[in-house]
Amino acid sequence: MGSKPIFGMIAGAALELLYPSSIYCVSCGNLIDATRPYALCDECAAGLRWADGPVCGSCGKILAEDARDGLCSDCSGASRPFERGFACMEYGGGRELIHNFKYRGRAYCGEKIAEMMHDRLRLGMPETDMVLPVPMHRGKERKRGYNQADVVGRLLARRLGLPYRKGLLVRTRATAPMSKLGGERRRENLKGAFALRPGGEALVEGRRLLLVDDVFTTGSTVEACAEALLAAGAAAVCFVVAAASADIPAE
Ligand SMILES: [Zn+2]
Ligand SMILES: [Zn+2]
Repeated sequence: MGSKPIFGMIAGAALELLYPSSIYCVSCGNLIDATRPYALCDECAAGLRWADGPVCGSCGKILAEDARDGLCSDCSGASRPFERGFACMEYGGGRELIHNFKYRGRAYCGEKIAEMMHDRLRLGMPETDMVLPVPMHRGKERKRGYNQADVVGRLLARRLGLPYRKGLLVRTRATAPMSKLGGERRRENLKGAFALRPGGEALVEGRRLLLVDDVFTTGSTVEACAEALLAAGAAAVCFVVAAASADIPAE
């Protein structure tokens, strides 16, 4: 502390006022100093598994050790409507962080997650014309107060200097909670659940889009969004998520 230049301390104090998250760990909520990367305490940071090694060339999941052909077990032999996916970390270690962000009203975690996504995309940014969030049904968004994908999508688009469009893709009906449904049931549950708002086709036609969401598991939500966007004339759809579930090798 003693040797720290005075202007550094002033800038640090100003940042703390702007981003209160930088004094609390975004995962466990413990007090930390403002220099911790992504506002994670050492313990939580050590529990995260970043997607900075071999990942699925299609959906971006961290690959299981015995994965072949550079694809996860879900993408192997499957045709995915999206072009490429990017994930920052494996969901297991990031559960608390995502949970805070999603359910405990901690929209401020969004700034740190956008920073993680930005850093992840720097390793190989896909050509992108526009950023958009995976939409939440209007009733649900009103109840929660925010759509976490929108919070982080807006911040990420600003960092990337790209146009951001919330409300272009809409969730036309509320869907049953997905967590207890298997892959096939998930797809059924989402059939026709996403559509472009009237007149939206002109905005996506021929464009390369980047979808933003918090978590990627089977991919059925992102797939349903990508299908709706491609049907409306989009040239390609990529996506970025904070966390993706582990690649579980097929039996
Ligand atoms: Zn922590
Ligand atoms: Zn995959």
